[in-house]
Amino acid sequence: MEIKVIKTTVPAIKPVDESKLGFGSIFTDHMFVMDWDRTAGWHDARIVPFARLSIHPASTVLHYGAEIFEGLKAYRTVDGRICMFRPEENFKRMNNSALRMGLPTFDGDLALEALKRLVELDADWVPHGEGTSLYIRPFIIGTDEHLGVHAVEHAQFYIILSPSGSYYAGGLSPVKIMIESEDVRAVRGGTGEAKCGGNYAASVRAGERAEEKGFAQVLWLDGVERKFIEEVGAMNIMFKIAGKIVTPALTGSILPGITRKSILELLHHRGIEAEERRISVDELVAAMESGTLEEAWGCGTAAVVSPVGVLAYGDKEYVINNGRIGPTSQMLYDSLTAIQWGRESDEFGWVVPVK
Ligand SMILES: *Cc1c(COP(=O)(O)O)cnc(C)c1O
Repeated sequence: MEIKVIKTTVPAIKPVDESKLGFGSIFTDHMFVMDWDRTAGWHDARIVPFARLSIHPASTVLHYGAEIFEGLKAYRTVDGRICMFRPEENFKRMNNSALRMGLPTFDGDLALEALKRLVELDADWVPHGEGTSLYIRPFIIGTDEHLGVHAVEHAQFYIILSPSGSYYAGGLSPVKIMIESEDVRAVRGGTGEAKCGGNYAASVRAGERAEEKGFAQVLWLDGVERKFIEEVGAMNIMFKIAGKIVTPALTGSILPGITRKSILELLHHRGIEAEERRISVDELVAAMESGTLEEAWGCGTAAVVSPVGVLAYGDKEYVINNGRIGPTSQMLYDSLTAIQWGRESDEFGWVVPVK
């Protein structure tokens, strides 16, 4: 499919002070759009000036949450190229999300081609500062113009770009996390595996309550027994218990993170054992009480690795590794970012240049 390009005639003024970029509030000059309907399939792939959307008030996305999204980054490597990290994995996952949410699947190669062209066109928007990046947000919405509940007949695929600041502007410091035992994020058979909007709307309440108590995020338990560890807000979770790295197995309610997958592959490649299995909250509490929980860290695109310094359960707070980043978390952060930013050679073929 041909991708049409209509360039803006009124380019926006780019932010000068990269330390004030923040996250997700500034957008570039262009966006990618593609339409779908059940008879014609995907068509009219185009890069157009960034603009507000005009959609029918009855659109499926507005009423029944027909929405899926992805999140990845483009960034400047040390040799001056603009690269992305495993973008084909994002489109693969997005297609799985589409299948779960009754939205149309798409050609991942075409999406990647469109993404590269969009980033190339807005390349001047990729910030230069250490740790800064161009955050990439692909999403699909259902756009049927009537109120019946059904698999959509019409949809649109978008990609928007947002120059964003370094996640660790204040240094790689451990966060306080609270195990959530009231709300649940997802259940097996539900939508936890899909990156879909509704999952996040439903998680906001617990997040707010945690924040009021001074925690950065919640750690979710499984939705059936509230007994097994699942993941954090937009990160998967890993632990080092008595010298062994463990992470919850993907049992259907956990988002299969690309950072999680990359860390497991990296560890495997280095001959470091890591286990994917169910981890009960009781096991974790016992490990914290006996002092065998050596490290805990979240992993996801935004932070890469986010060490956990305090984990709270009920009215108890446990300090992990004296509240400092542990050697494994540090090693994983250093290794992944070294590959991403081109400071170390990429033996895995994970880094994809934009051109
Ligand atoms: C996106 C996301 C992750 C992390 O996935 P990455 O591909 O590593 O960025 C983990 N959990 C949830 C709920 C997410 O939305």
